[in-house]
Amino acid sequence: MNPPKLRQSDSVAVAPPRTGSLGIRNARSGFDYLIVGAGFAGSVLAERLASGSGQRVLLIDRRPHIGGNAYDHYNHDGVLIHRYGPHIFHTNSAQIVEYLSRFTRWRPYEHRVLAHVDKQLVPVPINLTTINRLYGLTLEPSEVEAFLAARAELVPEIRSSEDVVVSRVGRELYEKFFRGYTRKQWGIDPSDLDKSVTSRVPTRTDADDRYFSDSFQSMPLHGYTRMFENMLDHPNIKIMLNTEFEEISAEVVYDRLIFTGPIDEYFDYRFGELPYRSLRFEHQTLNQPNFQPVAVVNYPDESVPYTRVTEYKHLTGQQHAKTSLTYEYPAAVGDPYYPVPRPQNAELFRKYQRLADQTHGVHFVGRLATYRYYNMDQVVGQALALYAKLAPQHRHLHAPATAAVAGQVAQATLSSAAE
Ligand code: FAD
Ligand code: UDP
Repeated sequence: MNPPKLRQSDSVAVAPPRTGSLGIRNARSGFDYLIVGAGFAGSVLAERLASGSGQRVLLIDRRPHIGGNAYDHYNHDGVLIHRYGPHIFHTNSAQIVEYLSRFTRWRPYEHRVLAHVDKQLVPVPINLTTINRLYGLTLEPSEVEAFLAARAELVPEIRSSEDVVVSRVGRELYEKFFRGYTRKQWGIDPSDLDKSVTSRVPTRTDADDRYFSDSFQSMPLHGYTRMFENMLDHPNIKIMLNTEFEEISAEVVYDRLIFTGPIDEYFDYRFGELPYRSLRFEHQTLNQPNFQPVAVVNYPDESVPYTRVTEYKHLTGQQHAKTSLTYEYPAAVGDPYYPVPRPQNAELFRKYQRLADQTHGVHFVGRLATYRYYNMDQVVGQALALYAKLAPQHRHLHAPATAAVAGQVAQATLSSAAE
């Protein structure tokens, strides 16, 4: 990515309100909000501010489509694929489900992943079946517990992603399932990566082979893009695609800015670049109806250059004579997809966050702008939490109840997100 040349005033405020003091407009021209980024963060806020508070919103994205990384589309062969890798919706927040259900119906789908280990495909997260297949055993759950306990290493303080796994399942299984995958995915050793990364993947001693344990696991029935279209279908929302913030920030009149891109980019990399990990997606379509037994197969072996292969028809339920796949190749350069959870990066982010806190009239939200390894539901929760703060300021214009509902949703999600 080329560092954009954003306007910089001498100290902090990069994009001050354009029309007088906050909330007081000189004239009803321009927009109440400019929102940068049409992913979950930007789109939820656009929807809430327009529908819930009567605000006029300009939503822009540098990409040629809405939906951010969750964007899906029918490819040349008519198969529904996710351009930026597999996106499976899962959450424990009933309120977030209620909110998104205003814009989509759902297709129940429980995600299952197999890993290619020791020349066979075994379930991941590691579970009873994984152990029995790998070691040719017929253990019961309590015996698997003892099996793992006998191999688990004693780690006095669990700090790294390596600590998490070796303390649960021991070094051999760590090396089979986690070491190579993580080194490829992140470009660093798990011992240098925050514990939160591999903690995302549980270990099970029963035969539950679902990737996620959340109470709600489903895919938008007609895809994510359709859901976003419904969300943004409002007369107060104008959308400009293929549009860089930098291109239009000086041209458009707006009161407040919501920025969902990388926070270091917004501040012109003032304290240096925040590391984001990228991926190269190789999409292909095969002239056969099926390819692999489940939606995702992981390849932890470091000698295989990709980390996982996704076959979309398992996710979408689409019936088609052909099948489409995506291979994910981790990369140091390219679009920013993952914040890299490490103490030094958290420290650098805090510097940007302090700057953001002093930048009046600008709100930072989403995975890139808050440098958090958030799932989609957590980003929705974060966006609704910001709306709950903003809504009372617009209450004279619209229904006050909306803010209260958003507040409850945000509360529920952020507590489940913290788990
Ligand atoms: P984004 O979706 O990144 O949207 C930000 C948008 O801002 C982008 O479209 C970008 O083009 C635009 N933008 C940035 N800067 C500018 C600028 N200067 N000018 C104009 N536009 C700009 N989550 C799950 O819950 N389940 C999953 O299975 C899952 N799988 C994932 C798989 C992969 C490979 C990846 C990378 C992520 C996955 N996620 C998953 C996470 C999910 O993608 C995010 O939580 C969510 O999409 C983040 O939404 P966002 O709005 O914060 O960011
Ligand atoms: N991971 C691994 N082996 C696996 C699955 C996951 O080492 O088979 C590690 C890897 O570091 C990965 C992290 O666990 O980045 C989180 O996995 P998740 O599936 O949540 O990653 P995401 O879907 O966000 O890319």
